[in-house]
Amino acid sequence: MTAQKHPFKAEVNKILELMIHSLYSHKDIFLRELLSNASDAIDKARYQSLTDNSLLEGGDDWKIELIADKEAGTLTVRDNGIGMTRDEAAEALGTIAHSGTREFMKMLESREVKDNPELIGQFGVGFYSAFMVADQVSVLTRKAGAAADQALLWQSDADGSYSMDVADKPARGTDVILRLKDDAKQYLEEWELRKIVKQYSDFIEYPIVMNVSRSKPDPDDAEKTISETVEETLNSRKAIWLKDKTEISSEEYNEFYKHISHDFSDPARIIHYRAEGTTEFSALLYLPSKRPYDIFYQDYKIGPTLYVRRVQIMDHCEAMLPTWLRFVRGVVESSDLPLNVSREMLQDNQVVNRIKKSLTKKVLDSLADMKKDEPEAYATFYAEFGRILKEGIHHDFERRETIAELLLFESTATEVGQKTTLAEYIERMQPEQKEIYYITASDRASAEASPYLEVFRAKNIEVLIMTDDFDDIIISGLGAYKEKDFQSALKGDLDLGDGDKDEKEEKKKAFSDLLGLMQDELKDLVSEVRLSGRLKDSAVCLVAGEHDLDPKMARMFQAMGQ
Ligand code: ADP
Ligand code: MG
Repeated sequence: MTAQKHPFKAEVNKILELMIHSLYSHKDIFLRELLSNASDAIDKARYQSLTDNSLLEGGDDWKIELIADKEAGTLTVRDNGIGMTRDEAAEALGTIAHSGTREFMKMLESREVKDNPELIGQFGVGFYSAFMVADQVSVLTRKAGAAADQALLWQSDADGSYSMDVADKPARGTDVILRLKDDAKQYLEEWELRKIVKQYSDFIEYPIVMNVSRSKPDPDDAEKTISETVEETLNSRKAIWLKDKTEISSEEYNEFYKHISHDFSDPARIIHYRAEGTTEFSALLYLPSKRPYDIFYQDYKIGPTLYVRRVQIMDHCEAMLPTWLRFVRGVVESSDLPLNVSREMLQDNQVVNRIKKSLTKKVLDSLADMKKDEPEAYATFYAEFGRILKEGIHHDFERRETIAELLLFESTATEVGQKTTLAEYIERMQPEQKEIYYITASDRASAEASPYLEVFRAKNIEVLIMTDDFDDIIISGLGAYKEKDFQSALKGDLDLGDGDKDEKEEKKKAFSDLLGLMQDELKDLVSEVRLSGRLKDSAVCLVAGEHDLDPKMARMFQAMGQ
C-alpha cells in the first residue's frame, strides 16, 4: 500500500513558503521548537500515566535524544512522550492549530516583518520551523498504549502536501527526522547542537542526550588513545524556578518566559520568590509587555503552570490567580499538594487559597514598585493591561484601595495621552474642593467638548476623563479615594464650593414661574427643571439624577435592550 497524499491547508503553505525561503540568521530556533514539543509530549505522557500506568509500557526513563547521522545527512529529535494517533497528526501537523503560529501569520501580513525578517526568529513558530533547515521532514510516531505495528509515518517535502502511512515503531513516542538542506549541515555537529541546547533549552526538565565520541588513553598502549561513544546530557535540567536568583541570567529568564507563554516579546517584569512557613512553594511569575490577542476571549486560559514535586500537573491553574490578574504567566511548584490533585479539588483548597493570596500580593507589590521606579514602563504596561487590572476593584473588595493606587487616568489637566494617578490628582485639588470629579465619555475629545465641563473650566477644577466602558461601575464600586468621594460631572447637583445659598434661593424665587411653566411643558421628558450653576456658555443642559445611571451606562443598557 502506498502512502496517502493530503494537501496542506492554504495557510500552512504560506508558512512553509516563508520557512523554505528564509535566509535569516535565526534558523537555530527550529531546535528550540522541536525540543519544546518533545518536552510537552513527555509532560503529557507523564501526567496521564499517573492515572493509567499501562501507558508507561514498562518504562518511565523520560528523555529526548538528538541523533545526528552524518552519512544520511539527517538529524532526528526523538522523545518517549505521548505520541500521536493518525487523526491527531493530521490535525496537529496539517493545519494551524497553535496560537503562536496564528499570531505569526498576522504579523507576516504586516510590513514590519517583511522588511525585517530578523524579527521572525523571535516568534514561536512551532513545528513548521523545521522546514527552515530541512527539505524533507518525517515524523514517525506511536501513541502511548497503541500496538507496535500501529505507528504512523507522516512525511512532507514541503511541496504543498504531506503523506501518512501505517508504520512499525516498538517504542512509544515520536521521532522527528530532518533531512538537512545543504546549507544546514552544521546541525550535525556536536558543538553546534550543544551550543543551541544551552542557549534555548537548558531549563527543559528532561535530559536532552546525544551520543558523543570521546578519546581516552588506550589501556594497552600508553602512547595511544582510543575513541569511545558515550551518551551525554546536554542540558543542565535544573528547573529555573527552583534555582537561586543569582544563578539566572536575564536571557535565561526571558527564554523560559517565551517557552511557557508562546509570547515573542520579553516580559515587562519578573517575580521570582520562594515562600516558606505554613505553605511552602516556589513561584516564578511574569508580567508580559504585550497584551495577548485572545485575552478577552471566553476560552482564554488563566493561571500559572502548576507543578507538584517536579511533575507538571496542569498547564493553567486558574484557582491560583484572580481573573483580574489573568495576564500574569508563570510557574508555581508546591509540595503541599497531592500528585493526583484535580481541578475540582483545587477550587476550595486551603493551600491553594494561601498561594493565591500570596501571588496576588506579590503581583500588586511589583506593580506598585514599577509605578514608582519606572513610571514610563508602568504607563506602557498600564496601556496594555490597565483595563483588566481595574476589574479587580469590582471583584476584590478587600484590595480595592490597593488597586486604586495603581489606576491611571487622563484628565483635563494632563497632556493628551498622558495620565495621572489619583494621588497626584488630590495634590492638585483646589483648596475648597471636596470631591474628585470625573467625566465618562467614549474618548478624550468628546469629553472635552462636553458642556458639562464648562463650569469646571471656569473654576479651574480638574476633571478625570474616564474612557473605558465600565469605568462608571468601577468608580461607583470604589466610592471614595483617600476619603474623597468621587462625583460624576454628569450627575446631580454639584457643590463646587462657592456655596452662596441666599443668592441661589433668591434667584430660585425670581424664576419660579418660568421654571414651573417649563416643568409642566416637559413633564413627560424630564423629572425636574431647576436652576443650575454649572453652565457658563450654554443655556440648558440635561443632567442625570444623583441615583440615576451615568448617561453613558444608560445608553449601554439601552443598546443591550434593557
Ligand atoms: P504547539 O507546540 O504550540 O502546540 P507546534 O506547531 O509546535 O505548536 O506543534 C503542533 C502540535 O503538534 C502540538 O500541539 C502537538 O499536538 C503536536 N506535536 C508536535 N510535536 C510533537 C511530539 N514530539 N509529540 C507529540 N505531539 C507533537
Ligand atoms: Mg511547539
